[in-house]
Amino acid sequence: MQYRDYGRTGLKVSALGFGAMRLPTRPDGTCDEDRAVPILRRAIELGVTYFDSAYDYLRGTSEVAVGRAIRPYPRERIVLSTKIPIGGLNAGGLRERLETQLKRFNTPYIDVLHFHSLSLDAFRRYGAGKGGCVEGARRAQGEGLIRHLAFSSHDSPANVLRLIETGEFEGILLQYNLLDRRMAECFWAAHTRGLGTAVMGPVAGGRLALRREAGGLSVPALALRWVLSNPHISVALSGMSTVAMVEENAAAASRTDPLSEEETAAVQRLLGDMAGLRDLYCTGCGYCMPCPNGVDIPGNLLLLNHLRLLGEEEVARRGYARLVRGEVPFRLGEMTLNGRAAADCVRCGACEPKCPQRLPIMDQLEQVDAALG
Ligand code: SF4
Ligand code: SF4
Repeated sequence: MQYRDYGRTGLKVSALGFGAMRLPTRPDGTCDEDRAVPILRRAIELGVTYFDSAYDYLRGTSEVAVGRAIRPYPRERIVLSTKIPIGGLNAGGLRERLETQLKRFNTPYIDVLHFHSLSLDAFRRYGAGKGGCVEGARRAQGEGLIRHLAFSSHDSPANVLRLIETGEFEGILLQYNLLDRRMAECFWAAHTRGLGTAVMGPVAGGRLALRREAGGLSVPALALRWVLSNPHISVALSGMSTVAMVEENAAAASRTDPLSEEETAAVQRLLGDMAGLRDLYCTGCGYCMPCPNGVDIPGNLLLLNHLRLLGEEEVARRGYARLVRGEVPFRLGEMTLNGRAAADCVRCGACEPKCPQRLPIMDQLEQVDAALG
């Protein structure tokens, strides 16, 4: 495993980080710890030290699973990162959530606490100022409950730059991959200022992995190598849900040689082949869920990707028919589909404001039903 400086914090982190949002789940959406813990521990065995969760992941059970997985290991060997959504909170509210998280992880401290999906507007309303969340975080830092304050964001690059320039944060966590390079300048700016830099979605939420192979090379490994070839990146988080994914990613993140000519050519070909993916860029993050009407939004959009990008009409039609008939749950690639078909969307609008990619979810669901119904 490669290890890199997390900015000027003094932390060293593994180049591959474990994003704990896609751990195996039970039918009720909570983490299946008995299946998740061996996957997390396999990552530790292969040298992964950076583990990232969030207050909301898997209804709070992702943090419990990560805490259980790391317990047998010396605490100082692990860099524990998590996130708190600060909308509507003040310093006291932040403190309450932080204490809940420390209990879930069963740990005395968190290494990197992120304000989750922070916008410039939310920072001004709930973060900055007297009695705000930054003040609450500083107090917790003074007591040793957190080591470093960072933020994740889906705001515009210009607003992310403004957040970096506030000087309040020691780290950032942003989306960056072959299909979405909008944040490249923010990584450069943060790294130059000595902030730690973490990438979410290096394989585009698994969307790049839909195509397993390009020019004889593994696409997920290629995508990860491409992200890590950026010298301004400390750690790339991958949401891994199987031991095989952990092993493949760990092997890719252990290589320090630059991208070969063959790999660069494969990247170019892949980008040409997958141009359509930019238009339908559901990362499968699940932030839009649950749908009050039970529609499996990421699952339906995944089927559309299979149809449009891979030309797998039969797979997409069969999957959609199973959703329509209610024959769930079932697996497709790395994802478990469990919910209703796109045709059951009643256009209530509850999902769209929650989508970090700002996808026109209702229109896209209509396209799914039109194409596969
Ligand atoms: S708009 Fe459709 S998919 Fe979105 S929350 Fe409402 S019913 Fe569910
Ligand atoms: S529609 Fe948006 S919020 Fe929902 S899973 Fe896809 S990217 Fe995430």
